[in-house]
Amino acid sequence: MTEKVKIKKIVDKKTGHCCQLMAKFIDDPRIRISYYPDWRGYYLETTGIGVQLMFNCPWCGFKFPEDLSDKRAKIIKKECKIDPYDDEQAGKIPEEFKSEEWWKKREL
Ligand SMILES: [Zn+2]
Repeated sequence: MTEKVKIKKIVDKKTGHCCQLMAKFIDDPRIRISYYPDWRGYYLETTGIGVQLMFNCPWCGFKFPEDLSDKRAKIIKKECKIDPYDDEQAGKIPEEFKSEEWWKKREL
């Protein structure tokens, strides 16, 4: 229940994020922080190793809700019979999984 309240805080704010600083830095191309709505995750982009999941906002301290990248892959495999990690099959992933639509619909 607490988890849902926190999620609501993220999506209901005017900025769409936990605080104005996070919104500002996500929009700034010089700062290598990204939000992936389909995974519901905030990532620090790094050179060499790709991306690193962030667990809290470095500015306001907000604890982000669970990252859904693994859950997304499992649901796509189970419901769509598609391997999301297979380059050939990845093009067949339904539109709802390319945004926050799939996890909002499932109330995750
Ligand atoms: Zn914040």
